[in-house]
Amino acid sequence: MLPAAGGGTRMGSARPKQYLPLRGRSLIEWSLAPFLESEWIDGVVVVLARNDTEFQRLPIARHPRIVTTTGGSARAESVLAGLEMVARRAAAFEEVYALVHDAARPCVAWSDIEKLCEEAADEQGGLLALPVSDTLKQARKGKVAGTVDRESMWRAQTPQLFRLDLLTQALRGCSEQGLAVTDEASAMERAGYEPRLVRGRESNIKVTYPEDLPLAEFWLEQQENSP
Ligand code: C5P
Repeated sequence: MLPAAGGGTRMGSARPKQYLPLRGRSLIEWSLAPFLESEWIDGVVVVLARNDTEFQRLPIARHPRIVTTTGGSARAESVLAGLEMVARRAAAFEEVYALVHDAARPCVAWSDIEKLCEEAADEQGGLLALPVSDTLKQARKGKVAGTVDRESMWRAQTPQLFRLDLLTQALRGCSEQGLAVTDEASAMERAGYEPRLVRGRESNIKVTYPEDLPLAEFWLEQQENSP
């Protein structure tokens, strides 16, 4: 499932970032591609903003394995709407797994998605992530308030893989308690689970700022040229 209902305000572009052109396609088409090519993914739900007018214009919108639904004002709300759509379409609710992937991550490698599914398809679930290599500073009013021990720090990426029923419960729990979560793993952690960290790659960037676009282009070119 791809949440794609964000405004992308940090890109400084009037057009939502998922529709910006990237190597001859829109960004979201790259993000969707590996999921559409896999035979063992039953279907893909794309969560769109209420005022989205662009997705239906893309050729990929007519792909037989894609369905769309409408998201909310926070990422977690959009993901919950997507999971509800998955539940409506899945034959069973238990034992169904959902992969949640940012529409803004166009360079994810299929081999990493496979690794995540092999290593994390259980009740705890898991996510692609990378150990932090920079020294981390705690900030207070523009000054350093302390140094964080980076040895135990990882950066969360997507996809994140969880059982559909457990992730739905966890996100609903956060919503009822008014807790804001910026990824699915946070909701699962709050519900007492210990999602597995599966090492991903630097190339799986989230396009957030204008300077990320040429970087995404670079990584896609690298992937095209590697055997
Ligand atoms: O804002 P951020 O970059 O963290 O968004 C990550 C992903 O979540 C993006 O693909 C964005 O479209 C999606 N999102 C969403 N609904 C929101 C906010 C973000 O689907 N309300």
